[in-house]
Amino acid sequence: MNKTILIQNALIVTVNPQMEIIKGDILVSGKRIITIAEHIDPPADEIFDAEGYIVTPGFVQTHIHLCQVLFRNLADDLSLLDWLKKKIWPFEAAHSEDSIRISARLGIAELFLSGTTTIMDMGTVRHQDTIFEELAKTGMRAVAGKTMMDFGERPAGLQETTAESIDASLKLLDRWHGFDEGRLQYAFAPRFALSCSEDLLRKTADLASEHGVLYHTHASENIDEAELIRQRFGVSNIQLFDKIGAADGNLCLAHCVWTDSADRQLLKEKDIKVLHCPSANLKLGSGIAPIPDYLDQGLTVSLGADGAPCNNNLNIFQEMRLAALIQKPLAGAQSMPAEQVFKMGTINGARTLGLEKEIGSIEPGKRADLTFIKINQVHAIPFDNIYSKLVYSAQSADVEHVMVDGKWVVRSRALQTIDETALPDAVHKQIQTFHI
Ligand SMILES: [Zn+2]
Repeated sequence: MNKTILIQNALIVTVNPQMEIIKGDILVSGKRIITIAEHIDPPADEIFDAEGYIVTPGFVQTHIHLCQVLFRNLADDLSLLDWLKKKIWPFEAAHSEDSIRISARLGIAELFLSGTTTIMDMGTVRHQDTIFEELAKTGMRAVAGKTMMDFGERPAGLQETTAESIDASLKLLDRWHGFDEGRLQYAFAPRFALSCSEDLLRKTADLASEHGVLYHTHASENIDEAELIRQRFGVSNIQLFDKIGAADGNLCLAHCVWTDSADRQLLKEKDIKVLHCPSANLKLGSGIAPIPDYLDQGLTVSLGADGAPCNNNLNIFQEMRLAALIQKPLAGAQSMPAEQVFKMGTINGARTLGLEKEIGSIEPGKRADLTFIKINQVHAIPFDNIYSKLVYSAQSADVEHVMVDGKWVVRSRALQTIDETALPDAVHKQIQTFHI
């Protein structure tokens, strides 16, 4: 028998097609939401009084690097290519199984405590099983994959041949895709075109379509990167993905800052998903992606914090607020209304991952991934416009309880699947082992 939980008296921000906001109850059975109504009669195995909370869909971040969380605050004031070469690649190359485990655990802890319940993650070249083990154990919902790097400058610890990269990816897909009734899924993750042979990029496109999984990579983040790609391949970054047969609805491109009108046409025609990371784009000095244009064209744009060293947090509230604010001086104060930005952090993320029938809104039949946010914090009242509160004035510390698949992962701000008190010592112990 499935455990039932009756959540009572909540202010429910459903994000359903009508964008209904309901004061009422939610009945959860096992992993799924069964009913939403103004009143649901008990009994249930657990009755939870949510008076004083806004309940939102668990947030979805579509571009994260759990393997980099250990390097938070260690890589400031650099632009993308220097940041990668001088800091991030040497750090990633030095990872052990133990250090990557703690890095992933630290990231998941932060994500849960700020209300994110689903991520798409890009790992590093090695130790991807360890990241999946942490995702499995902690209860995070994730689409994840090892990064693929068979070309160009990179430290010895990140070198692999095309065949090794594909072979390792396929083994991981075999082991983890579909784990726990689909809570974990695999995505192929070539790092970016500059780190990959054309052969790898092409073969990966074929494999992604053969296995029906996502193709997750970075594209057109930085002006120098975009220029180097033009020099090497003779086409723009977005056109390259079309040329190699990867441009379709399963292609998820982080950033898309430097695109021209032909690129934008392709993004639209091929239903390519844009993963927008406003903090990372600002911190690395990459630029401001033309998100209002993309949204006007009907593209699916979602949000991600990217890596902790280029942010330096994994907090969806910061990403939503910045996503709105950075566009306004360029596109006008009327651009990026709060309700639209809130969708980017919820249902658009679900759509990006092909999970819109499972998560991203609070509706009967969907997975019970829920975030409970305190209503009456002094920095966030009053709130006639609830989306304005959620995007501009709410803070991550207002998240009080979080549930994934009907299981509590945060209760009264205490992590339920991670020993938070042991984390700082474990993190400091691991970072001592890095000699970069
Ligand atoms: Zn990234």
